[in-house]
Amino acid sequence: MKKALFLDRDGILNIDKTYIYRFEDIEWVEGIFELVEYANKNNFLVIVLTNQSGVAQGMYTEEDVKILHEKMNKHFIGLSLTVDDWFYCTEYNSDRRKPRPGMMIDAQLKYNIDLTQSFMVGDKVSDILEISGPRTFLLRGNYPLETVAKHHSAEIFNSLAEILEHLKKIL
Ligand SMILES: [Mg+2]
Repeated sequence: MKKALFLDRDGILNIDKTYIYRFEDIEWVEGIFELVEYANKNNFLVIVLTNQSGVAQGMYTEEDVKILHEKMNKHFIGLSLTVDDWFYCTEYNSDRRKPRPGMMIDAQLKYNIDLTQSFMVGDKVSDILEISGPRTFLLRGNYPLETVAKHHSAEIFNSLAEILEHLKKIL
């Protein structure tokens, strides 16, 4: 079985400017390339799980999402880094919309992933998926995380560099 580093997109790969759909508007989050590099070198699949309700709202199309992900993927390839797959959910009423676990289950089945050996990195309470197995690390700064701290349902960090250091320590 494989292990995976699951990444939320907005706020983790790119700075969350809300409803981003053009590559020109992508500003990379500090530390993301180092985190992906570490995952690549340590045999983690790197899989993006992103809610894109902007499609349901008519702000952009599913084709826009696909094109953006292709361009983002090329950027990683240009740095000799690998993002293995990009899962997105365009709907509100869907088992795949985070925090529902559908996208992660799709990835688990597609790649034969052991979720107990896997990690989810996000920046919102809804990035704590309703599934047992993966440990969740949340990046502080974009959204309120008080309820997370209270219930100890995820670990909270101040930067992707801190998350990387923590991963190195526990692996
Ligand atoms: Mg996010």
